[in-house]
Amino acid sequence: MSQRDNVIKHSSENPFESMKKRFDIAAKTIGLDESDYHVLIAPQKTVIVNIPVTMDDGKVKVFEGFRVVHNANLGPSKGGIRYSMDVHLDEVRALAAWMTWKCAVVGIPYGGGKGGIKCDPRSMSKGELERLTRSYTDMMVDVFGPDKDIPAPDMGTGPQEMAWLMDEYSKLVGKSSPAVVTGKPIVLGGSLGRVEATGRGVMVSTRAALAKMGINPVGTTCAVQGFGNVGSISAKLLAMQGLKILAISDVSGAYYNPEGINIEAAIAFRDNNNGTLEGFKDGKKISNAELLELDVTVLVPAAMEDQITEENANRIKAKLIVEGANGPTSASADDILNKKGVLVVPDILANAGGVTVSYFEWVQNRLGYYWTEERVYRRADRVMKTAFEGVYAAAQKYNIPMRIAAYCVAIQRVADVEKLRGKFGL
Ligand code: NAD
Repeated sequence: MSQRDNVIKHSSENPFESMKKRFDIAAKTIGLDESDYHVLIAPQKTVIVNIPVTMDDGKVKVFEGFRVVHNANLGPSKGGIRYSMDVHLDEVRALAAWMTWKCAVVGIPYGGGKGGIKCDPRSMSKGELERLTRSYTDMMVDVFGPDKDIPAPDMGTGPQEMAWLMDEYSKLVGKSSPAVVTGKPIVLGGSLGRVEATGRGVMVSTRAALAKMGINPVGTTCAVQGFGNVGSISAKLLAMQGLKILAISDVSGAYYNPEGINIEAAIAFRDNNNGTLEGFKDGKKISNAELLELDVTVLVPAAMEDQITEENANRIKAKLIVEGANGPTSASADDILNKKGVLVVPDILANAGGVTVSYFEWVQNRLGYYWTEERVYRRADRVMKTAFEGVYAAAQKYNIPMRIAAYCVAIQRVADVEKLRGKFGL
């Protein structure tokens, strides 16, 4: 279960509105016609279920669950399942749309989906979580499928929930179906390299962006916000590329060392310290807000949404922002960063390494043949590099920021396929 569950979420713009703002600008840029606009913005399928679960005390509790398929033009829809008390339909719809654009921008044959159950997984026993996951799968059996809709972990879920889902689905369809879900434990068909995939994609994107800016990565300064899966692996791989990581942070605060932080040592510290950087001594303690405003060349927000807003965007000194997190920059901060000439590699591109390796997991499950870590890395790096170049070229062509260019590339791909297929209604 992810650490993000332990932190208070910042208030945010309505997530669907935030996605739509960027979608609208991109749609205008590529001249998307009005009917395509309406088809592409609306989720194709929304399923709401009430899931009865017998709790350990014998009483039955009913949980609300959702699955949204935003768009399945490019292939089966792909997206995580979130267990949280904050889950609501608007958020699930926004996240599903984000997945459509993310898969399209990196050119993998998937549409976008997302699911969630309104529950507090930390207060539930393992048995209760298992019964909840199996019942949700039973109720979604007509939605899920290796060629229809493929879930994955998200906040509050992990490999164990995916194993239950895979097992339950396999029983229901009467055959082993590992490809119905990704993010499984390795022994059940998970992919090598999945844990590092998102951080690795952030590193590849950063390298590609620095090359465009004519900046040698060796000695280039960097700050990384968030030290979970994405933040710590991005920091480690960037340090291996020669960048000097001046600051790291987690929910306990930020740690700044002008000489550069030893990232391997910081990871070891966190792993022996209940997963937190609290008490980390290789740096002066500063706040997360101060970290964002440090005088560094590269900033990697890899914690959570809405960290760079219209309130602090003007004080950002980094020349390059690579968005490891989903939605770390609010739509209202985009213009400020653009005016300052900051190059932003947007989330739907920068953190797409994760879904790319999830796609590889699905491919391996269907092949029944498993790749080495080296092969996974090589292929994922190639997907990320090609996607970066495509988005960068679109940004140059239309003279627009990379975020809007990423949306343009993605929307165009989905719209082109829609034209070829006709109005696809699932
Ligand atoms: P995680 O739970 O492993 O780590 C989150 C980290 O952020 C933790 O170190 C936590 O302490 C820290 N954090 C939380 N709130 C913070 C705050 N206000 N200030 C500073 N640090 C804070 O999560 P993760 O998997 O690394 O995901 C991080 C972000 O990346 C999320 O936005 C997630 O949606 C996105 N993302 C993750 C993946 C993936 O493969 N894990 C893929 C794509 C996008």
